[in-house]
Amino acid sequence: MTVSELLKKGTDLLEKQKIENARNEARWIFETVFECSREYIIFNADDIPDTDKEPVFMEKIVQRANGYPLQYVIGSWDFYGETFRVGEGVLIPRPETELLVDFALDYLKSKNNPVVFDLCSGTGCIGLSVAKERPDSKVYLFEKSSDALKYLNENKNFLMCDNAEIIHGDIFKGFSAFDVPMPDLILSNPPYIESDEIPALQSEVLFEPSMALDGGKDGLDFYRAIADLWLNECRCAVAVECGEGQANSIKTLFSDVCARTDIITDFNGIERVVTGTERI
Ligand code: GLN
Repeated sequence: MTVSELLKKGTDLLEKQKIENARNEARWIFETVFECSREYIIFNADDIPDTDKEPVFMEKIVQRANGYPLQYVIGSWDFYGETFRVGEGVLIPRPETELLVDFALDYLKSKNNPVVFDLCSGTGCIGLSVAKERPDSKVYLFEKSSDALKYLNENKNFLMCDNAEIIHGDIFKGFSAFDVPMPDLILSNPPYIESDEIPALQSEVLFEPSMALDGGKDGLDFYRAIADLWLNECRCAVAVECGEGQANSIKTLFSDVCARTDIITDFNGIERVVTGTERI
């Protein structure tokens, strides 16, 4: 089949299963499988690409048509201008999380050689982006899940972040359990969905690991741990991502140790990031 015939076949199948962005998604899958650029597709529509890869392409289209997340089908996703490896067992980087990185880079402007923690780092999209943008920083990425660690290690190596260190551990053990220096800034996008709400999530999200989603009964378990077990011991600033409706409770949690707390709203008008700066 030619490039355009394959793309049409893929697009039709996705459309049939009501995948919204069918044409683009078929193209992205095509580009990944045939390792080609968008330009190649545009200018070589009548070419017959590597026939060995045709079944691989169709297999991935079928996976996607069955609701498997596009990011897992492709195996990578862009975040803050870099490409991160993703797959089952790790949370897919979301565009709103870039706000946390924006805040971090802005906050760190006045500091030389800052030490930064990324708690519950998953793919490492937050911490590795900071490490990349600030080569003088030292970033420690804490992750408990061995499945996620696989991607985290791959991403650190792929992005060549020599100033990032990965730590396998549970953040509920607290700062004192780890052999790490005092940080200037703690960042985290922890699991924050209320346990009872997980079954009702969009079906695509259910392919993502529940460990990366489940924030306990009220969704705030990890923020309490950050406040009690980390901020209490580290005189540093903090910035966390949160779910809709959680920002004020987290602000209250942080106000015990931070004289200044702020909320950053995302592009959908949702209070998405809580920051704690001037420490008491
Ligand atoms: N910090 C990672 C991210 O923002 C993973 C978050 C998580 O697993 N809850 O994508």
